[in-house]
Amino acid sequence: MSTQNPILDSKCPTGDIETRWDRHRFDMKQVNPANKRKFHIIIVGTGLAGGSAAATLAELGYKVTSLCIQDSPRRAHSIAAQGGINAAKNYPNDGDSIYRLFYDTVKGGDFRARESNVYRLAQVSNNIIDQATAQGVPFAREYGGHMDNRSFGGAQVSRTFYARGATGQQLLLGAYAAMSRQIKLGKIDMRPRREMLDVVKVDGVARGVICRNMVTGEYERYAGDAVLLCTGGYGNVFYLSTNAKASNVTASWRAHKRGAFFANPCYTQIHPTCIPVSGDHQSKLTLMSESLRNDGRVWVPKQAGDSRPVNDIPESERDYYLERRYPAFGNLVPRDVASRASKERCDAGFGVGPGGKSVYLDFAEAIKRDGEDTVRAKYGNLFHMYEKITDENPYERPMRIYPAVHYTMGGLWVDYNLESTVPGLFVLGEANFSDHGANRLGASALMQGLSDGYFVIPYTVCGHLAGRNLQPVSTSDEAFAEAEASVRQRTDALLAVNGSRTVDDFHRELGLTMWDHCGMARTTEGLQTAIGKIGELREAFWNDVRVLGGNEEFNQSLEKAGRVADFLEFAEVFAKDALDRNESCGGHFREESQTEEGEALRDDENYCYAAAWEYQGADSDSALHKEDLKFEYVKLAQRSYK
Ligand SMILES: Cc1cc2nc3c(=O)[nH]c(=O)nc-3n(C[C@H](O)[C@H](O)[C@H](O)COP(=O)(O)OP(=O)(O)OC[C@H]3O[C@@H](n4cnc5c(N)ncnc54)[C@H](O)[C@@H]3O)c2cc1C
Repeated sequence: MSTQNPILDSKCPTGDIETRWDRHRFDMKQVNPANKRKFHIIIVGTGLAGGSAAATLAELGYKVTSLCIQDSPRRAHSIAAQGGINAAKNYPNDGDSIYRLFYDTVKGGDFRARESNVYRLAQVSNNIIDQATAQGVPFAREYGGHMDNRSFGGAQVSRTFYARGATGQQLLLGAYAAMSRQIKLGKIDMRPRREMLDVVKVDGVARGVICRNMVTGEYERYAGDAVLLCTGGYGNVFYLSTNAKASNVTASWRAHKRGAFFANPCYTQIHPTCIPVSGDHQSKLTLMSESLRNDGRVWVPKQAGDSRPVNDIPESERDYYLERRYPAFGNLVPRDVASRASKERCDAGFGVGPGGKSVYLDFAEAIKRDGEDTVRAKYGNLFHMYEKITDENPYERPMRIYPAVHYTMGGLWVDYNLESTVPGLFVLGEANFSDHGANRLGASALMQGLSDGYFVIPYTVCGHLAGRNLQPVSTSDEAFAEAEASVRQRTDALLAVNGSRTVDDFHRELGLTMWDHCGMARTTEGLQTAIGKIGELREAFWNDVRVLGGNEEFNQSLEKAGRVADFLEFAEVFAKDALDRNESCGGHFREESQTEEGEALRDDENYCYAAAWEYQGADSDSALHKEDLKFEYVKLAQRSYK
């Protein structure tokens, strides 16, 4: 069912884009400093989005409860981020500006993001670097002492700040240090090992959450004046991805069932440079940072099926296909473009390694030009990781890489204030759909998560707290009892199945279906097949899953079962969204819609919207709402990186 959008008010300011955020901040209601301590904010997730939000809001004086799955906030998935974070500082003086970062991001997202949000992101990017530096984040420096920048895909300037190949870790330690100060001061009540399983609404407004204590199995109720979901992305619906194993859709999906619309669920980023799948035993994939494409050159042999040892293939018989096809951007084309190009070469028989399912990423030229020590200084930890996993030395022979699921641009729909369709429920970081359109540029996720947490939510949450007449709530209210009962009932149901197949077995099968039909290339027929298979698998799961152990204990089998049950529901909306979007854009590639050269072909007349799905109950189809996207500054055009 499709309805024209009566309820998706983006609340984007109008007028000059340069002053929109300033004017919006001025127009918003404020909470005066003395009153801030009267408000209690619940923040789920302690990655870069949640950690930065918790630290900032507590510093401002709010009372904060922070919840996360891991045993420590600093073990959130953000810690895995490798390559860097973008900002428009223009330190290298190579032509960057806020406008260029804005332009690159709108174009990189294939014109499927809101201009107002993206412009704000570019504006705020510079504050993030200042904030992180003040916290002591050790960004790499060049010889003159300025922070160094490198290039990432989709940009012709160098704007990526980095801390070797561990930028996420260093940024997270910065946010964690800021959080720790507030924990010590008693402003943040930090609750690790809590899994949020429901949002509680009172009078239609989000006023709390229900969590399972993952150590004792107890159910806990948390009440507050606003709820912030900072729970990351759902790439693990594909089973194999570069995401942390604990990354999931549960928090978002449960919020969705309570009325938060899910936007663009089919927008998935498949990253071109990952270590290829090596067999059925694998439970996770490993990214080789995009930063490597600053110096590494991607190629395959010119001759299909060439099985010579890689170093025996002469220069003249190598096809540097990215440089050939996209001379202007070369190896630094955006991820969606690079991934599709790898797939095209491998499908055509030019791939290398087992099954011809990989391409080379070669540093020989960089090593010859700059010396091994220089290359080691820049990428040493990534090379080390590659060697540990593959037992091949990338200083001596090219890495082998292949695309893998990495990031999800879709997420809960939010307006310009980061508020979902449930009043009082805000969504930050990868969990929302806001700024990247149909394809995220490298090094922009950290920028968005920290922008949301440090610089956007501290303003926009005030509008809710000061503008709505919030009455006190208590965890003994009926709404909390009802939500807790429904969570308990779901856990009991999982434990009661007592079937014969493991949770992982179902998850793996779901992942294969998603990869085969909803992965790098999608077709009408494939998506219809996927929808059928997902439904069948969901039914099989509820009849035959075996969840070991019980509730009143630390039980990873139970945790995983809950998450896979949600993935099995969510996957269907994912596939339906992909089916509905009968165009190609960014990472969403419908084979039916491509240019003669095999590039994604958008259909702006019919699909220039953000799709927002509304849950209508287990037995009904979700309803599709459309938020029209308008481009006043960056002209809609066929993306080209040639
Ligand atoms: C290998 C890898 C490398 C990357 N490198 C880069 C890079 O160099 N630059 C870049 O910009 N981006 C990079 N990204 C993307 C980036 O790391 C993520 O998009 C970003 O860190 C997400 O941050 P987040 O705060 O939104 O979520 P996360 O860091 O995923 O944090 C989610 C938090 O939510 C909690 N949580 C989840 N569900 C629940 C629940 N139900 N109950 C309680 N808590 C819950 C978790 O415990 C965690 O604390 C990379 C991604 C990967 C996979």
